[in-house]
Amino acid sequence: MFDPKIVKKDFPILSRVINGKPLVYLDSGATSQKPKAVLDAERDYYEQHNANVHRGAHTLGDEATKLLSNSRKKVAAFIGGRDEETVFVRNTTEAINLVAYGWGLDALKPGDTILTTEMEHHANLVPWQQVAGRTGAKVELIHITPRGLVDLVDYENKLKNKPKLVALVQVSNALGTINPIKEMAKAAHKVGAVVLVDGAQAVPHMKVNLADLGCDFYAFSGHKMIGPMGIGVLWGKKEMLEKMSPFLTGGGMINEVFPDHSTWADVPEKFEAGTPNVAGAVGLAAAVEYLETLGMDEVRKHDEDIVAYALKKLKEVKHLKLLGTEDPKVRSGSVSFEYSGVHAHDVATILDSEGVAVRSGHHCTMVLHKALGIAASVRASFNLYTTYEDIDSLVVALAKVNKVFGK
Ligand code: PMP
Repeated sequence: MFDPKIVKKDFPILSRVINGKPLVYLDSGATSQKPKAVLDAERDYYEQHNANVHRGAHTLGDEATKLLSNSRKKVAAFIGGRDEETVFVRNTTEAINLVAYGWGLDALKPGDTILTTEMEHHANLVPWQQVAGRTGAKVELIHITPRGLVDLVDYENKLKNKPKLVALVQVSNALGTINPIKEMAKAAHKVGAVVLVDGAQAVPHMKVNLADLGCDFYAFSGHKMIGPMGIGVLWGKKEMLEKMSPFLTGGGMINEVFPDHSTWADVPEKFEAGTPNVAGAVGLAAAVEYLETLGMDEVRKHDEDIVAYALKKLKEVKHLKLLGTEDPKVRSGSVSFEYSGVHAHDVATILDSEGVAVRSGHHCTMVLHKALGIAASVRASFNLYTTYEDIDSLVVALAKVNKVFGK
């Protein structure tokens, strides 16, 4: 098992002092910090290899092309996918929009159902609402239980309407719930649905094996898994990607262009119009290498331990109401809570004055917050550099909230 205190030393930003206090970064669910290895890989790319790709003709161009292709190989292998099924995009949001517009606009017909959950991030709900509006399809939501789990009875019932698409978050960014994707995907396929999984909060914390999960599309962002911002992945089954229309068109994604029409390059290039983020891809590959060196089973073990510790410690804090399940086996990455009588933004502001960075608000899950009957919450979210001492600092800082509000 790795020691998060030692891991932390690899992340330069984590030695910053904020408001006179050592930074306690508990906002990794929004974006993770980056180790020196990732920062060095990006810098080395720009200092030594920068050129546009696929244009051949000179050495740097060839080096950049090879680096992009090797990064794709590394990232694809990390999730158990094949290179040609692994499309580089900017982030999870773009990956889901690519499927919504590239697949959804053609495949969905009036009256079709898109089935998703009440706990989706807006990135896996709003694009489906948009495409539903354009095609005449409708969006249906699977309810969640008061404990913050997907209501599987409701799911089974709603599958009877034979949805065309089931779009599921693997790990909720607001509740931390780990959904039983494998079983849910199996059930969805039985009724002929296509399955898309939002893995933005799963890939940073646990081993993801696409063959085992059994979905058709999988989306995630580099920046939440200690990689750079501006690079993400859409993985899709080859036969699905080949049938789909491109989302963006222009240079880099064509086979041949005629005055009145064009033909497309093979996948994945068909979906990568314009100059790609090579430095981002190189940085993401370095992030994958870093995670693999620690070992994803160990990363998940630390994740589960930290979540369990945070749940235990925060339970002891007066005036807090924890959201989601208390079972760390089906939780990952974060703990959210309400603070009775104090607005979440006020809690976050006071914590910041103590150097503790958390998120407050609806965390891009307004439907979930409405379903839970609350307006906003505070979220402390973790990554592999989060230590037990960080959680202790959060608890100490929360005492200041009590003091300020005379609780
Ligand atoms: N889905 C989930 C579960 C998320 O947590 C996030 C980021 N908060 C997203 C999607 C969107 O990710 P991005 O902003 O990188 O597109």
